[in-house]
Amino acid sequence: MDDIHVFDGHNDAVQFMSDYKPAGRDFLARSEAGHLDLPRAIEGRLAGGLFALHAYPERKPENDLTITSDGYEVRYADAVPLDHARRQIDGQLSAMRALIRRSNGRMRIAASVDEIKTARAESTFAVVLHMEGAEAIDPDLDYLHVLHEAGLRSLGLVWSRPNIFGYGVPFAYPRSPDTGPGLTDLGRNLVRTCNALGIMIDVSHLNERGFWDVAALSTAPLVATHACAHAVCPSTRNLTDRQLDAIRDTEGVIGFNLAVNDIRADAHLDENTPLDVVVRHIDYLIDRVGAERVALGSDFDGAVVPRQIRDASGLPRLLDAMRKTGFDEETLRKFAFDNWLRVFGLTWPA
Ligand SMILES: [Zn+2]
Repeated sequence: MDDIHVFDGHNDAVQFMSDYKPAGRDFLARSEAGHLDLPRAIEGRLAGGLFALHAYPERKPENDLTITSDGYEVRYADAVPLDHARRQIDGQLSAMRALIRRSNGRMRIAASVDEIKTARAESTFAVVLHMEGAEAIDPDLDYLHVLHEAGLRSLGLVWSRPNIFGYGVPFAYPRSPDTGPGLTDLGRNLVRTCNALGIMIDVSHLNERGFWDVAALSTAPLVATHACAHAVCPSTRNLTDRQLDAIRDTEGVIGFNLAVNDIRADAHLDENTPLDVVVRHIDYLIDRVGAERVALGSDFDGAVVPRQIRDASGLPRLLDAMRKTGFDEETLRKFAFDNWLRVFGLTWPA
């Protein structure tokens, strides 16, 4: 029971780290702000996760949300130039390295399944480097090789905006994720190169045609680090049953996103979303694709999560709610930890 550790498929904590933004939070000190820092991870038995490097635009767009009669639409975000993205990603990467040094062995960058297992055995928090959106990568992919050398093991081809590799899905509800063209030739080349290097490809934020292009081309299991089911909550960020089935059939995994607006059938941004609504959504996914294919992709520090979970320290409450609904311990272990390691094992070189 209490020995269940959690590995998380997605968080945006890097953006808020004082090592990156001096006005931010010290990841090594407990805070009440946001969702994730090392003390709260330890309280929640979170053993590690994918940390997203992510470039923001030079200027935050204004008034980009429109409330419609039955939902919402967000104006499609502009592309982010390579130089601007590169500076931010370099800054985030060196911030993460500074944090790891400061942690005095309490945290490490893990770039293999063995390193994650060793970290867990030694109670060291495992950071797997992920990048959400490939804007910082040049058409020749030179920087991809640099990032891979630095430990990058997972890449989201796009965020919800266009780049030279493909088209992210604009945020909208209710709406199909089939919102635009598929991958570009450069995008297809990026998929092949990630396969060759053993970098996991994340289809979160990709539109549906891009998803099917990855599915047709990639030799690795299909993975969405943070998404939910479109059949339950028809937002563009969620995966249709056909997409879920494709992930199942490639032995991939879906990291269940704790964003309430992608969990709830009505997509309301309501942090009072009860845990039984959350667990019913997880149940739908496991029913559809099996217990081996659903894990956690919290989106901590990047989403509004249910108040009953609150932050990383509240993860045991989610597992308890699943347990009370009748999920057995084996399913809980797969959801909490084992499924990510299984997919890393199938994707990363041994
Ligand atoms: Zn995201």
